[in-house]
Amino acid sequence: MEFGPDIQKVPKGFLCKLCDVKTPNEPSLDAHLKGKKHQHLCRLRAKREAQQESTVYVSGFQPDTSAGALEEYFQQFGPVAEVIMDKERGLYALVEFAETAGTKATLAQLQHCLNGLKLRVKPRERKNFKLASKERQNQTKPHISLEKLSFNLCLASSVNEQMQKMVEIFQLNENESKARQLLLDVLQEVFIEFLPDCQIVPFGSSVNTFGVHSCDLDLVLDLENTKAFQNHNRKCEQQGGDTQSEGGRSEDSILSDIDLTTASQDELLELVATILRKCTPGVFKVHAVNSARLPVVKFSHRQLNLQGDITINNRLAVRNTRFLQLCSGLDSRVRPLVYSVRFWAKQKQIAGNLSGGGPLLNNYALTLLVLFYLQSLSPPVLPSVEQLKEMACEEEQCVIDGWDCTFPSQPFRVPPSKNTDDLCTLLFGFFTYYSTLDFPGSVISLRAGRVLPITDFLSREEEMPDAAESSDATRQKTIRPKLGPVNILDPFELNHNVAGNLTERTHRNLRRELCEAEKYCRSSRYQRKSSKGKSWGIAKLFAPLLEGQDSAGKVPEISIAFRADTLTDSFRAELSSAGETFRVLWFKKVCSALEVVFKEILKCTPSDQVEILQDQAREEEVNNNNESLDSSSDQLAGPSGIKRPLSVEEGPSCSSSSPQGKRMKLEGSADRPEASHWIWTQRHLVWAGRRKIRRILLKTSDETSKPEGGCSSIESRVTQYIIENDPDPKEELKFSMDAVVAGSDDCTKAVLKFKATSDPAGHFQDFYHFLDCFLPKMVETLLAKSE
Ligand code: ATP
Ligand code: MG
Repeated sequence: MEFGPDIQKVPKGFLCKLCDVKTPNEPSLDAHLKGKKHQHLCRLRAKREAQQESTVYVSGFQPDTSAGALEEYFQQFGPVAEVIMDKERGLYALVEFAETAGTKATLAQLQHCLNGLKLRVKPRERKNFKLASKERQNQTKPHISLEKLSFNLCLASSVNEQMQKMVEIFQLNENESKARQLLLDVLQEVFIEFLPDCQIVPFGSSVNTFGVHSCDLDLVLDLENTKAFQNHNRKCEQQGGDTQSEGGRSEDSILSDIDLTTASQDELLELVATILRKCTPGVFKVHAVNSARLPVVKFSHRQLNLQGDITINNRLAVRNTRFLQLCSGLDSRVRPLVYSVRFWAKQKQIAGNLSGGGPLLNNYALTLLVLFYLQSLSPPVLPSVEQLKEMACEEEQCVIDGWDCTFPSQPFRVPPSKNTDDLCTLLFGFFTYYSTLDFPGSVISLRAGRVLPITDFLSREEEMPDAAESSDATRQKTIRPKLGPVNILDPFELNHNVAGNLTERTHRNLRRELCEAEKYCRSSRYQRKSSKGKSWGIAKLFAPLLEGQDSAGKVPEISIAFRADTLTDSFRAELSSAGETFRVLWFKKVCSALEVVFKEILKCTPSDQVEILQDQAREEEVNNNNESLDSSSDQLAGPSGIKRPLSVEEGPSCSSSSPQGKRMKLEGSADRPEASHWIWTQRHLVWAGRRKIRRILLKTSDETSKPEGGCSSIESRVTQYIIENDPDPKEELKFSMDAVVAGSDDCTKAVLKFKATSDPAGHFQDFYHFLDCFLPKMVETLLAKSE
């Protein structure tokens, strides 16, 4: 395959520099290059380049010269498409011609004069086309390069020392803290002018002891006192009294325009944005983000070079920040561990969403993962939130929005930990613990200090476990956390999954990186300083590619993760009552869906044989069904060697009412996971060009557009179209697929292993790469409500 200048070969595949997208192999690179994003950016780049060619840079005119006057002057060289004036000072302008001939004619003339002044005209500076998001990423570049950090860390004498160094290198220094305090003081002064008695309270990384250089300044505008002030004034007004309060303040004009008790979030945000924009020195780039879970106004400060955001009345965030501060103060190992894990996660692109959200872990969720791990150790480094509550005194009782947020305000109330593990061991333990945790099948509860089974959260009717006593008990009964591939319950807001934004892809990457890190930590390279000057310890852990990390040569394998949030209510209820055996029940549905995908959607032909690895109890039942046995099969045999014909009748909605002999029997026990085996044949290139065909079919039908794998009927028609338009069927591709369900000490997922048993045309790799993306999405669609 020929690669253009946009494509760079990287260790794990290919990087499209234009789109900043990595692909693992050539077929996926090919799909990316033909995809919407790449095509759109190519067009955009071509347009920008053409614009650059037809634009000249003009300066030297009088400051009050209008765009119209410039347009009139330059018309003589060709039709002018647009004149863009420099907004700040009117010192230069960009004149864009409708055609490049205009530029050439302008530049061919040696002198230009307008209103008696000599103009300077030159070609527009060429800039390399860059993605906006790339520019944003560059702005948040770390203060220290990875090479320099690595060099610094390798000078240390132990991993413990390296981890301590991480804090020293990254923590906020005195000047940075002062700058934040300065901005906070300015904001407090300005806001109190308009909103008497309001309070601006910092939270998040600036104050939680885990801040790094250039981290944002998270602020809460607490309007509770202002509301009370306003209500008091209004009451006085109604009684015909003086509206001046004790302090001599009167209700300012802004407050007289808005009723804080009844104002909507949008109105309040607009108010905050206006005060920031119009009245706060140095503040720019102010914009409200209403779509966030907690609406927020974002801003930047020019001189202090800081980014900040303000949320309103977000007292829970202030409280959970205090909780992080407390944990940090309870044990000196917490900070080095959090800094190291945060940096590792950022390097591996599993944490650090761009501002405004994203599918990765955010730093709060990641920090909770570290704290939870420290709670889970034996003996624990940190107590559970429930235990902390018991250690608090009466004045420390705190309930916010109905959630119990009680914990001691000072570390001395909490007895020191008996755990003596060093930092090196703890970091290794972190990777070991999470690389074997079944994320989709568990709910991480810092409140309880242990993992809760997902089945506790699947049914709607029951009360939530560990819910704090609240006057608003009904809410806690009905609203459940949004379950996803990773479930981390907020320690206080017990119906909130702080990792609810994670996608399946992030989860997969998280697991992969955890496993790689765990594997690396077992090596002596991690534990001992290199005597040959090589990178070692955590310096090597942060490297883009760990030693021996290579996906080549592995058995082709696709995982379908358990995703509670996409299942129907009735199926969730069924799983909930299944308790520990829920995995097998779910796996049974997945197998049925897989059959629908291969047989109905991709039109593969099943071989006559299927073998289901079953236990002895099953043997009897199968023996009763003599017709279905085929002793001649030489394919994989299970422990009991039982072989059964492939059942293709079942869809994902198969119920126990299907005829006995035709159904796969998969209701095994949790400790004896089931496995299934199929052999399929395909003679057409059903994986090639699907996207284009889908577009064609959608144009001629009423169906609404869905992404690839989003609708089974469209996908079946796409396959049908390919088959009907393939006059020359290729030599058949025959492959086997083995499925097993994993869980309990691994992530709940169905693992599918593929093997080409006959592939004369060499198509298997392409088909497999297509399946890698298509299959999980299609199975999810079939299991979800919509299908
Ligand atoms: P960063 O350096 O990325 O700004 P941070 O420590 O400020 O790190 P954020 O993820 O920005 O962490 O979170 C800031 C604060 O916002 C947290 O301390 C928490 O109070 C609140 N917060 C963030 N995400 C969530 C969430 N998913 N659920 C509840 N509160 C959250
Ligand atoms: Mg923050």
